[in-house]
Order: sequence, then structure tokens, then C-alpha cells
Amino acid sequence: MIHPNPAMNSSCHRAKWVMRSPGRWIENGIVEIRSGRIVDVRSLGKKPPQSSISDHGGGILMPPLVNCHTHLTLSALKDRVDKGSGFLAWTKSLLREREKVSAKEALEATKEALLSMKGSGVGCVGEFGPRFEVRELLRDAGLRGIVWREFLGEDRDVPSLSREAGEILESYAGHGPHTTSPILLRKLKVACKERGVPFSIHLAESKEEVDFLEKGRGPWADFLRERGIDFSPWGSLGKRPVRLAKELGLLDEDTVAVHLLQVEKEEIEILAESGVFVCLCPRSNVALHGKVPHLEDFLRAGIRPCLGTDSLASGESLSVLDEIRFLAEGFPNVSPSILLEMATINGARALKAEGCGLLEKGSPGRLLYVEAEASSWEEAEEILVRKRDLALRFIDGS
Ligand SMILES: [Zn+2]
Repeated sequence: MIHPNPAMNSSCHRAKWVMRSPGRWIENGIVEIRSGRIVDVRSLGKKPPQSSISDHGGGILMPPLVNCHTHLTLSALKDRVDKGSGFLAWTKSLLREREKVSAKEALEATKEALLSMKGSGVGCVGEFGPRFEVRELLRDAGLRGIVWREFLGEDRDVPSLSREAGEILESYAGHGPHTTSPILLRKLKVACKERGVPFSIHLAESKEEVDFLEKGRGPWADFLRERGIDFSPWGSLGKRPVRLAKELGLLDEDTVAVHLLQVEKEEIEILAESGVFVCLCPRSNVALHGKVPHLEDFLRAGIRPCLGTDSLASGESLSVLDEIRFLAEGFPNVSPSILLEMATINGARALKAEGCGLLEKGSPGRLLYVEAEASSWEEAEEILVRKRDLALRFIDGS
């Protein structure tokens, strides 16, 4: 009988700082990996590891970052869409410009954006409404996550999902309550439940969305008619987005609701009680709506938001580190640990990416190493949320 050699298919990685999760750090720590999974995270000082140590230096070993909401396949639209004339003008401009992009151009821009996003430390992604199949691209880039097939417009049957591509799940999303029949939204949510996959939806992003849902008329109603969407049978009018989503049964711990920019106090309470994952896209919100999300109100209500960059048609980059640096500047009272949780563990939970977003026994053996010189873990967290152009690389443990 052949006995497996424990040193085979294993590796051990050391750095001055190891972030197990935000606020839980080890100085002079090691991460042992066996057969692609973490088996131990501890201080080097104790027993020797079973395999020789790769010493990465004085920086930080940490889990890869999580971008819970993006639209990679819109990447060719960077700097081509009008962002300064309001949400409706942006939407129309996006739809117009999107038609001008060739399939080849869209694919090349997507590949480039994917590389750049990965280069910024993102290892897990929620891709929303791709215009073409991207799961193989994500898988080949070594990413994990979910691809949400997006539906909007009038009610119809929900087609079946394809098989999984590696670690990339496929699921259903409703574009939003201002574009999608409520019956269809409910149907999509039920279909997700039946398949055990998370649902996602843009929710309470714009004033136009709120106005349309409350009054059933105005510029957004005209726009839907122009697009040939008949909302007269929807029966969803007179309600604000969060209340409507609650009534439709869309809000629970298996939904990722994106934006939540237009929310009142009692709606934040509804969100908190529901357990829904709130995904914020702050830089996109400022670009399109001139305001940041109610981060501190969400935190006070007990919500632990995750983060998305949205697409390059509204955001500057697909980097989650850029997103938390932006939040660190705008919300000096929010601790670096909270911001790092948003960029890691909260996002991994939202995407149901088991073991991701933290370094613990059973987590994937994929680490991020960030160059940094810190004399304490608190300083290391400050560097992660404040320093521009951090040098980083992935480490794939065997
Ligand atoms: Zn979006």
C-alpha cells in the first residue's frame, strides 16, 4: 500500500503580517496549504510546518478581495457614456453606445478589464447581466463567484440554467423594480430558491426609479414606453422600491440587493430585519447620482454591506481597494476593519463563496500578498484602506 507523503501537494507561506480576517491578525504568521485548501493559519513560533516555507517578506498575506457587483461585458463603454446629465440620460447614452460596440471589441475590453480587476486583488466576483458568456473567462482567470443572468421587461417563462463552470455559479437576477414586471421578479426569486442559488437585483438606485414606482408616470415611464415595455399590468405602483421588494418576497439572506441609495430610515430597518445582503457601489453612485450611500446608517442598523464597483460605464475601475479607499476618505469614522470586511468576508458571504473572504482551515489555498511596511496590524489595515497603487500578487498554494 502506498502511503501519501504529507509534504506532497502542500506548501507553506510566511509573511510579517497575516490577516485571517479584518481585526484578526497574526504577526510573523504562516499559512499552510494542502491539496488546494488551507489546513492551518498560525504564528511561525510554534511547531515547524510539514513543508518548507516560502517567505514572502515583510508585507501582508490576506484573502483575495470580493467584487460583488460588476458588469464586465460593458467594459468597452469606459469613457464613452455621458455621466454628467442625470441617470436617464446616462441610461439612454449607455444603450446607444452599447449598440456601436462590435462583438470583438466587447470581448477584448472584457478580457482587459478582467485582467485589470484581478491585478487589483479581486479573486471572487459577482458578474451581473453579461452580454455574452463569460464563465469560462472567469474560470480560466482563476476567479470564483456568480454570473447572474439578468431579466427585465414583461413577464415570461424563466429558462433553465447551464451547468457550473468550475467555481463559477450561474444564477438569475432581475434588473430592477423600475424595469421588470413584479410577477417576473417573483418568479426569478422562486427559481433561485428552487435551485439553491442567490438572487440579485438593482434596488432603490435612482430618484427616477422611486418617482416612477410611486407615481407611475414621468420621464422613466415615457422611457419604458419608448423601449416597448408595457408596465400597465404591473400593479406595482404607489410603493417605494424597498417596500415593493419586501412585498414581492425578494428580500432575504439569499438575495444581493445592489445600490440602496434612495432609502429612508424605516426602509433601512426593513433591510436589516430581512437579512438581505446590501451591496454598495459608492463611486458609481457619486458619478451617476452625485451622492454616496448611507453607509453609517446601514452599519448602525446592523447591516454589514458588501461592495461592488459597478461597470466601467459608471465607475473608474473594477478595483475593490479603490472603492474602500474612496469610502475611507468620505467616512473617516468608519474603521478600516469594517471597510476591509466589506471588501472580503461580507462579499464572500453574499456570493455564498464558502471559505472565501478569510483565511481559515478549509478556505481555498489562494492568497493575496500585499507589499507593505507596517509596525502593527492596525497600521497594516490603514495601509490597505488608504494607500494608492499597492503592489500585490496572488499566491496559489498547492
Ligand atoms: Zn449594476
